[in-house]
Amino acid sequence: MDYQQIIERIYEEIKPYEQEGKQADYIPALARVNPDQFGLYLNLLSGESYQLGGYDTRFSIQSISKVFSLAIALSIKGKELWKRIGKEPSGTAFNSLVQLEYEHGIPRNPFINAGAIVLADVLLTELENPEEFFIQFVRALSGNEEIDYSSEVAQSEQSCSYLNASIAYLLKHHHNLNNRVEDVLHFYCMMCSVEMSCKDLAKAFTAFARSSEPFSHGGVELTTSRVKRINAIMQTCGFYDEAGEFSFLVGLPGKSGVGGGIVAIHPAKYSIAVWSPRLNERGNSIMGMKALELFTTMTSESIF
Ligand code: GLN
Repeated sequence: MDYQQIIERIYEEIKPYEQEGKQADYIPALARVNPDQFGLYLNLLSGESYQLGGYDTRFSIQSISKVFSLAIALSIKGKELWKRIGKEPSGTAFNSLVQLEYEHGIPRNPFINAGAIVLADVLLTELENPEEFFIQFVRALSGNEEIDYSSEVAQSEQSCSYLNASIAYLLKHHHNLNNRVEDVLHFYCMMCSVEMSCKDLAKAFTAFARSSEPFSHGGVELTTSRVKRINAIMQTCGFYDEAGEFSFLVGLPGKSGVGGGIVAIHPAKYSIAVWSPRLNERGNSIMGMKALELFTTMTSESIF
């Protein structure tokens, strides 16, 4: 299969959409990003890689960080984790508050904000130096020591994270948050602020595609069983209230973030990351989703 030719054709086909949507602007630092950028990186497990456009440009990974925090929390807590967080699709927006009230402070899944705020709380309790551990884990996963937090983006988000603060206080009210709300929000925003390129993300996610060789770092092990479960949650919950649509159009487990990044994997075949800041109303990259839909259509390599 000529993957390079395929991704170049995809780029031509998605060009008509390049002015649709706009970048996230509820986080002031993200509103300043140039929206007219696109990158793609395909990493085959057999070793070859193919790339396009701004594949090496770092951007804010935002909610993609939730996959990393879940991997760490699940490795530390095991089944216990599911007493504090569910694993069902939410069908609601990533920052929705209503469902959390109805369900008495147990977030539907780890990939909506409420769930990831509980993950941040778990890591704060369990790790001696959570910020250091988290970034070292991400660096080790992607093999790039230069990956870092953006304290500018983190501060920018925290300065106006009224909705996430409401979620955190509701969790606290239901005894599902052990640390101080301010500390949890700070760490949550730091994790979201990590900047990675499509190349970094595709490389990091090979650990979720190639579960036969478990990745391990600092006592966190991505065993075959854990990877299976994390991939299942990516498949059912990775795109908030658009998880069904992504599954329908693309057919891969994946995760998106409001920085415009999407990363997806095909178990035992490849990992692929795309990035374009303009989002649809659900907070997912428009060109990114189109590119992945075309990719699995043209290659016939979705999981279904
Ligand atoms: N940091 C963002 C928030 O909490 C992450 C959301 C996202 O990427 N969907 O709103």
